[in-house]
Amino acid sequence: MINVKTWLWTCRLSVLLAALVIAAKIYPEETWLAHVGTTALIVLTVICLSGAFMGLLLVLGRLYLGCPLCGMRSRAVGGRGSLLWMECPCCGTLRVSFWRVGKRCVEKVEERNDG
Ligand SMILES: [Zn+2]
Repeated sequence: MINVKTWLWTCRLSVLLAALVIAAKIYPEETWLAHVGTTALIVLTVICLSGAFMGLLLVLGRLYLGCPLCGMRSRAVGGRGSLLWMECPCCGTLRVSFWRVGKRCVEKVEERNDG
């Protein structure tokens, strides 16, 4: 089980990796960039496969991640766009935003908002 914040940073890192892969395609004459691009593509593939697997677990309701606030094992109950809802036994329902950094990325919510 990984902490949700670790996963958030992995997702953010994958954006950088994707940029490197694209850069290597745009400038194929740069040998070092081609090597970096190939490595980035491999890492990105692993991250994407993990993400797909986690998405599948989320759909099945079997995705557990560490709570961003207390680290306890919490069930991910749903996601939409860049948002993820988690149910922590200690902190209650949390809404985690992928693109906000720091404390602002986690909000406590009373009820899950499906609207
Ligand atoms: Zn918690």
